[in-house]
Amino acid sequence: MTSTIGFIGLGNMGGGMAANLLKNGYAVRAFDLSEDALRRAVEAGATACASAAEAAAGVDAVVTMLPAGAHVESVYSDAVFGAAAPGTLFLDCSTIDVATARRVIDAAEARGFAMVDAPVSGGIAAAAGGTLTFMAGGSDQAFARAQPILSAMGKAVIHAGAAGNGQAAKICNNMLLGATMVATCEAFAMAQKLGLDPQTFYDISSVSSGQSWSMTSYCPVPGVGPQSPSDNDYQGGFAVALMLKDLKLATQAAAQAGASVPMGNAAEALYQLLANRGEGERDFSVMMKLLQGN
Ligand code: NAD
Repeated sequence: MTSTIGFIGLGNMGGGMAANLLKNGYAVRAFDLSEDALRRAVEAGATACASAAEAAAGVDAVVTMLPAGAHVESVYSDAVFGAAAPGTLFLDCSTIDVATARRVIDAAEARGFAMVDAPVSGGIAAAAGGTLTFMAGGSDQAFARAQPILSAMGKAVIHAGAAGNGQAAKICNNMLLGATMVATCEAFAMAQKLGLDPQTFYDISSVSSGQSWSMTSYCPVPGVGPQSPSDNDYQGGFAVALMLKDLKLATQAAAQAGASVPMGNAAEALYQLLANRGEGERDFSVMMKLLQGN
């Protein structure tokens, strides 16, 4: 029998993810506040629903891919919990704060539902191509049920531990990425000022101890390293606004957990500066320009 998924939030990411569920034989009942997003999902083969509650009723699982914690909390409390049949599995794939993720999962479990937080690594192209990485938090039983659904939308699915640990893994990873990108840009800008050719510095550092993903897979200097958004005037890729969102979630979680994150705090302030300069839509490696003084 075909498994049916209620899918709520079919924007840049959710649209591609729902299309991959359909390609893998799932039926999808879709809801989004945006008519355009809903129309695109219907074109991919989903059935349109008139509300989140309608999408959550009579399905095997509900997947949400929404902007932030407040949207997730209200969609589950106001619509999904009341409409879903007993035994429905919930998967929230949005990137949200750890505290809200844990609160919503607790509320689901208190009503007898199983739920995982399963944020993703990978952008719009990975969502469309079905090559996302999912990091999921939740009980072993909930994860076992979620795994085949997540596998239909991604290339890797990792159980990060208890509820909320998916979000914790996501923000720790992206905080590390934000900080290494800033450090990589800073080093390239300084190397140039000291008279070192960027390609030469890349050739040395990429096989030395300063090497990182930010340098060798996503080099922020145009024309150096493999193809990356810097070669396209920092268009496409992972937007400054999204990096800033993740850094804010990271520093907020750090404050709540009593963790010292001086590098994360510095990266947040620098990405805020880029956003204030009107660079929010450009790729996050545009940090290079700020640190070059351009
Ligand atoms: P988006 O804004 O394109 O999509 C969100 C969708 O949710 C929109 O279509 C919006 O209309 C819908 N929505 C909002 N409130 C709703 C509600 N109450 N009911 C139904 N629909 C509602 O955002 P996106 O880029 O798809 O990102 C979604 C999530 O994925 C975010 O948490 C983001 O941080 C995360 N993420 C994004 C990327 C990326 O590269 N875009 C990468 C990794 C993770």
